[in-house]
Amino acid sequence: MEKKLAYFGGTPVIGEKAPESLFRWPIITEEDEAAALAVIRNNAFSGIDITEKFQDEFAAFLGVKHAVCYCNGTLSLAAAMFAIGLGAGDEIICPTKTYWGSITQTVTFGATPVFCNITDMLSMDPADIERCITERTKALMVVHYFAYPADMDAIMAIAKKHNLLVIEDVSHAQGGMYKGRRLGTFGDVAAMSLMSGKSFAAGELGILVTNTRAYYERALAYAHYERNNKNYITESCDLHPYAGIALGGVKGRANQLCSAMARVQLKYYDARCAEIRRAMNYFWDLLEGARGIRAIRVDESEGSNMGGWYCPHGAYYPAELGGLSVGKFCEAVRAELGGDICWAGGNYCLHTHEAFHTFDFNHLGRPTRVAYCDRDMVGEDALCRPSEEKYCFSVPWFKHFDKEWIERYAAAYRKVCENYKELTEENEQSPADAAGRWYGTSNQ
Ligand SMILES: *Cc1c(COP(=O)(O)O)cnc(C)c1O
Repeated sequence: MEKKLAYFGGTPVIGEKAPESLFRWPIITEEDEAAALAVIRNNAFSGIDITEKFQDEFAAFLGVKHAVCYCNGTLSLAAAMFAIGLGAGDEIICPTKTYWGSITQTVTFGATPVFCNITDMLSMDPADIERCITERTKALMVVHYFAYPADMDAIMAIAKKHNLLVIEDVSHAQGGMYKGRRLGTFGDVAAMSLMSGKSFAAGELGILVTNTRAYYERALAYAHYERNNKNYITESCDLHPYAGIALGGVKGRANQLCSAMARVQLKYYDARCAEIRRAMNYFWDLLEGARGIRAIRVDESEGSNMGGWYCPHGAYYPAELGGLSVGKFCEAVRAELGGDICWAGGNYCLHTHEAFHTFDFNHLGRPTRVAYCDRDMVGEDALCRPSEEKYCFSVPWFKHFDKEWIERYAAAYRKVCENYKELTEENEQSPADAAGRWYGTSNQ
């Protein structure tokens, strides 16, 4: 293969467009179309029967007792916070690198998010959790970021030791496993997005799951006025007197078009994910040993896996590549691919966002994040600086095992890793780029 990088005018590794089906997601068949059409023809958008069927099927899929749908994942996570009784003055520990929808809802409960560091796999670092615990800590928000299963053995042991509740945000990892058990079944409550960009993609939809009846009932009462009644909420629930209105003042009912599509997607989900995993593992096998980059993936030998491998990324180590910035590395890879794949970043670390420092949601005259808190959490954010220096870059999210195309993409990344010197020799170093985004991903 030619060594001269396409960045400097060499021949790109990939000169033509990959077949569109290689990346297309979700996979929509006539069965999805028929399910959606039935909802339209019955004018049943706002009913709940299809949604309830999906809830039962999804609960069975995960092996949990209860499931409740919401109009999106953000609200399902707010419902999870309400379910466990998160309130003013409570602290909840969350990894700093995640999408805002994991934790920003705390402002409506007067609770304080405390950010902890991440590992090289961009996953909540169990070794940093105890630093964040105070007598006010009520819960952990565990995120299986970019589908990598968080270290649940270590995390659950810490939760048990300190008597903390655990919420799992499974928005990136539906169907994934940790040591033989589905993600979303470890914590007291789990909630997740099933939005069109996620690996379980059903339009705009979210779902909460739990084995605890009391949490299920509180979650229902939060944003579901039509289910906040004695058919659902038993007398043992503290919210029993408040039937008939949605207690969060928000309405979270799912649109049945999305539930109908979700029912069809669920039937094929595990099989489609298995093909994605085969493709992604092959891609990373080809890149084993490449200088400066490592797969963000889990060892499958113990029964763990990455589900549908949402938004796959690699970890980047600039020191191994002569200090080459991740931004410039990605630019050079994009030149080899001639495509809109390979961007630096993932989400910015949340502790760096001004909203967690000064935003005053309820006009209390002090930042909401610490409005009910007696210590300066904001000052402690500096302890999360190491997380800002965990670099990563995106890789193609293959939906099919197409050996030849996977090999071509891997060759493009390897070419840059092997010829990085040319890039660092350039006088003009691109600045160590900010490498991230608050939301959205590149076009993949
Ligand atoms: C997408 C996402 C959410 C929010 O889900 P929506 O359905 O978009 O509201 C929450 N947490 C994470 C980690 C996400 O990626």
